[in-house]
Amino acid sequence: MNQKKIITLALGTLLSLGIVQTTINPPIAEASYEAPMSPARQERLAQKQMKKDGAYDTATLSSSQKALYNKLFAIQKRLADANNIEIVDKPFTSRHDHETKIHPLRLRKSDGWSYSEGAGYILISDTNWKFGSLKGTSQVTQTIAHEMGHSLRNGSNLRMGLFVALRGKHESRLEETGADRESVKLINPLPEGGWGYYLLGNNRFKSQKEKHSLTRVYYHAWKAVCNDIKNATKNRIQISVTGTYGISYMNGKTAYPIHGLLGYTDYLGGQIAECIAKGVFLPRNLDIVPVSKLNSKCQYPGKSVIICSSPKLPNGYRALAFSYEENTQVLKRLLAEYIHAPIQNHTSYISDADVIQKAQTASSVYKKSDAVQLKEIVTLAKLEEAIQK
Ligand SMILES: [Zn+2]
Repeated sequence: MNQKKIITLALGTLLSLGIVQTTINPPIAEASYEAPMSPARQERLAQKQMKKDGAYDTATLSSSQKALYNKLFAIQKRLADANNIEIVDKPFTSRHDHETKIHPLRLRKSDGWSYSEGAGYILISDTNWKFGSLKGTSQVTQTIAHEMGHSLRNGSNLRMGLFVALRGKHESRLEETGADRESVKLINPLPEGGWGYYLLGNNRFKSQKEKHSLTRVYYHAWKAVCNDIKNATKNRIQISVTGTYGISYMNGKTAYPIHGLLGYTDYLGGQIAECIAKGVFLPRNLDIVPVSKLNSKCQYPGKSVIICSSPKLPNGYRALAFSYEENTQVLKRLLAEYIHAPIQNHTSYISDADVIQKAQTASSVYKKSDAVQLKEIVTLAKLEEAIQK
């Protein structure tokens, strides 16, 4: 018997006796526990924990807090509706309630931390969340989806109790990665959702240099999702997690860096990845629609949205990028021109004199950035089509 086996046996004995060491990190393997805690006991534990974590009573919020609460709750409701999750007020009665139900979120003190407390309760920090832009909304939506992810995974079993016990010192990479992956599933049915939306909402965790141990855990969760993206696209979409941050489309040994305009590189790269994973990122599926034609709850920047359409995508399309051009006919003409042109040298498109000339001379409504962005997307779709042939 080697040392490793002895350790495993000793650990097994401890766990079977119900003695749980708080230094085990990650605590336990996925799904290794069958809920030993009754819903009533979970409820008591969650109530105690919420008090400790500074949860506000929703009925006595100030008017400004109530305004914030309503915005946050609308996002929770949108996520729940898109995923057939029921929002209920009454405490859970079954050990499986947490898999399909959740309670209305609660506001907690403004230290910036949001928690999942078990038994279907999530607390969102009373922070200066940014609404009114896709970028700002993605951060708050991603935070709510992440906490909902914890709840759906752990609502009423011992793992949640253990997770709460470990929190602060030994928050496990396993649990955080699991919650992030669950959040990707939750945002995916939203019209603006997908991996791009996840990356947009999480890009504050893209540095591993963070001193805070918890932030480092989130970096590892983010890295795991980046790896999922790479695997699902058969290595085509690669996100640099070390060195200079960037997203590339890999075609054999050639890397084509992706440049989203208006600071939306994360969004463009992740959304393209989604379409590649479904095998539908092809020039013929690209289209341009006015913002008003898409879901009005999404705050898309600009006037028009470049989309990839396919019945294989949630809601039938994925938004890829944005344009300030309102006249979609102008953009559609440019799109058709690029689709029918021979494949371009992608690496030089940013300084492509021809594109810029065309953009400037066609009319004042053409914006250089629109022409460049469109050409990049079409070129990548053509490269993808060539691989599929
Ligand atoms: Zn978490």
